[in-house]
Amino acid sequence: MDLLERLCKAGGISGFEDDVRDIMIEEFKKAKCDVSVDKLGNVIAKKGKGKTRIMLAAHMDEVGLLVKHINKDGFINFVKIGGVDDRVLVNRVVKIKTKYHLTGSITGVIGVKPPHLQKDKESREAIKHEDMYIDIGARDQKEAKKLVSIGDPIIFLPNFEVLNENIIAAKSLDNRLGCYALIEIMKNLPKVNAEVYAVGTAQEEVGLKGARVAAFRINPDYCIAIDITLSGDTPQIKENESNLKSGKGPAITILEASGRGVVTHPKVMDILVKTAGKNKIPYQIDVLEGGMTDAASVYMTREGIPSGAVSIPIRYTHAPVGLFHKKDLESTIQLVSKSLQYFA
Ligand SMILES: [Zn+2]
Repeated sequence: MDLLERLCKAGGISGFEDDVRDIMIEEFKKAKCDVSVDKLGNVIAKKGKGKTRIMLAAHMDEVGLLVKHINKDGFINFVKIGGVDDRVLVNRVVKIKTKYHLTGSITGVIGVKPPHLQKDKESREAIKHEDMYIDIGARDQKEAKKLVSIGDPIIFLPNFEVLNENIIAAKSLDNRLGCYALIEIMKNLPKVNAEVYAVGTAQEEVGLKGARVAAFRINPDYCIAIDITLSGDTPQIKENESNLKSGKGPAITILEASGRGVVTHPKVMDILVKTAGKNKIPYQIDVLEGGMTDAASVYMTREGIPSGAVSIPIRYTHAPVGLFHKKDLESTIQLVSKSLQYFA
C-alpha cells in the first residue's frame, strides 16, 4: 500500500498532473513497459505482443482549486477545477503548489465568516465558493504575491489513514485507485496474445480530454476504463439511488450518466461478467445516472471503440477525503487482468 499512499498524497489537479505522472513513469518502467508521454501529458505504457490492441485507462488528475485573484489584504480567491461541492470547502487546509517557493508548496486555510457573526438567513444557506478565500497568513497583497501566483494549482491537504484492516481513507481515491490498479496489472501482466496499453490519462475531471487523444493515437480494438463509482451504503442514500456496497466487489458499468456517458459494448460486458464468474471474482452491476469515465470519450473516438468501465465503489467522492475497501481494489486488478485473455 506504500505505492497507493504515494499516489494519493501526490498533487495533480487537471492539467497539472506532473507529480502523479512522475510516479506512473517510474513504476511503469519498473514493470518493464515501453513508456512515453504524449503532448497532452498522458502516460502511455505498452507491453506484450499480438494483433489485438487493448487499452486500459485510468485518469491521473484529481478535483481541486486554482488561484484566481490575490486581494489587497493578501487573501486568495480561487476557482474550482472539476466537480467540487462548495459545502465541503469550508475551513479546509489546502496546499498551494507554487514554483516560486523553496518548499514547493504553501499551506493555507479556506476561510469564511465565523458562525457567531452570521445573520440568521446566512447561517441557513450554503456558503458559495466565490464568498470564500484562502488565508495563507500573509500580511498584505505584497507579501502574498511573493509566495503565490495567479494560476497556481491548489490541492486538499494530502492524507492517507488506515481505519482498519479493510478500510482506508485518503485524498484523491478518484482516481489514484485506478492508477494503482493500472500499475499492478502491468507489473504482473499475464501472457496474452495482445498489445496492452496502460494509459494514465490527463484532464479527465474537466471533460474526459486525455483519454480521447490517447485512444486516437493507440487506435485500440477495446478499451476498459478503471475508475471509481459511488458506494451507496451510507446514511441518506436510498437503495434505488445506488445499490452498490463497499467490499462487495468492483462495479461493472452498464451505462453512465443515464446513457450520455459510455454505453458498455455488449462484447466487453460479456467478457467482464464471464471472467468474474469463471474466476469467482465478486462484482456488482452499475447503472449510473450521473458521472462518466474515460470510457465515455474513448468509445466515440475514430470509428467507435468497444469500451466499458470497471469501477471501485468509494464513499465521499470529489471530497477532500474518501473511503474504500481494500478487497474491492484487489478484485478490480484481478478482474481486469484475467479478462485480457478473452479480448486477445
Ligand atoms: Zn474519476
